[in-house]
Amino acid sequence: MIKNICCIGAGYVGGPTMAVIANKSPEIKVHVVDLNAQRIADWNSDDFSKLPIYEPGLDEIVKATRGRNLFFSTNVDQAIQQADAIFISVNTPTKTYGVGKGMAADLKYIELCARQIAAVATTDKIVIEKSTLPVRTAEAIQNILKNTGNGVNFEVLSNPEFLAEGTAVSDLMNPDRVLIGGNETVAGKKAIQALVDVYANWVPTENILTTNVWSSELSKLTANAFLAQRVSSVNALSELCEHTGADINEVSRAIGTDSRIGPKFLKASVGFGGSCFQKDILNLVYIAKSYGLTEVADYWEQVIIMNDHQKRRFAANIVKTLYNTVSGRDFAMLGWAFKKDTNDTRESAAIYVCDELLNERANIRVYDPKVSKSKVFTDLEYLSTRSNQENEDLVTVVTDPYKACKNSHAIAVMTRVG
Ligand code: ADP
Repeated sequence: MIKNICCIGAGYVGGPTMAVIANKSPEIKVHVVDLNAQRIADWNSDDFSKLPIYEPGLDEIVKATRGRNLFFSTNVDQAIQQADAIFISVNTPTKTYGVGKGMAADLKYIELCARQIAAVATTDKIVIEKSTLPVRTAEAIQNILKNTGNGVNFEVLSNPEFLAEGTAVSDLMNPDRVLIGGNETVAGKKAIQALVDVYANWVPTENILTTNVWSSELSKLTANAFLAQRVSSVNALSELCEHTGADINEVSRAIGTDSRIGPKFLKASVGFGGSCFQKDILNLVYIAKSYGLTEVADYWEQVIIMNDHQKRRFAANIVKTLYNTVSGRDFAMLGWAFKKDTNDTRESAAIYVCDELLNERANIRVYDPKVSKSKVFTDLEYLSTRSNQENEDLVTVVTDPYKACKNSHAIAVMTRVG
């Protein structure tokens, strides 16, 4: 039975997930640890509006559980030692160097975690991969853990997270399903059951699916790929609508009411953002390529190509509508996060659109109630070829939406409000 959980990584996945587990399982102690001391300090802040992650309802849950059975700390070793189950929720960014650059997931953080667990653990542990990972990562983790030679047994499970940012708390409270993949051995099945018992505290057992490790890993990547594909499909049609006089909102409502298709992820937009869709599809493409499956890789890559096209097209439309002269003109951008109800800006379409407009030397006023000024400039710095000074000359971050819009030539609504 799992009594003590350690979660390595206090980010968008680890933080909310552990808060809900702690909330629903008062008899389990949950320690969330992170190397980032500032992040941990923010989780421990007395001002609950200062938590590092914004999700509707999250502050209430942290308030109810922190100090009771939910703890945030930087003491990774101690949390590993005490735990009988360890969730790995560290980041897996796309590789920016070497083989698989721009596509494969960078597993260095995962590997470091596995090595640390191996070095520190003195009792048997269930190790659970929570981060979205390429297929067969569990095998790599298992290999690192197996070769430590200190006699401790590790059972690796895959338990991918299906929460959507912006609705993380309700997704975690009422998940469509929980997926747990494990080895098909006696020890593997025992570990699976231990984790099933945790979720069974609040999830009906018929909604807890158990599979082998590879199916679980691949299901996560493909779930995101399917959702992203829907967005790219509807966005591809939005361009056709603009040329033919059909209205994309009417089309998506019409097809969304077909129960076989359903209404979700059919809203035309500036393109999807966030840390998962692009990364997971690139991963899928990379895996397909590495098995020599060119057609499979090309098929999924098109989803990304369409998304990049949609972001560029949005900026180009603004420029074209203003007779190709936007230099020196003022623009408002409402919303910087990649979607509503989150402060996460990773891969946000707003960054790309802003960058395109800045290339045309437009002046931009950005308003987003949940995103700090410094975040906006770091995002731009990461993407653009301009100097920080140039970005600061052209971009102003404001805290009042009316100020952003006043006397602007165009208002770009980047984060859906409705
Ligand atoms: P996600 O969206 O997957 O949760 P985040 O980047 O929000 O990703 O969070 C991942 C967290 O994991 C970061 O706060 C980072 O500091 C933390 N992290 C990465 N590697 C380690 C490690 N070896 N030990 C502890 N924390 C780590």
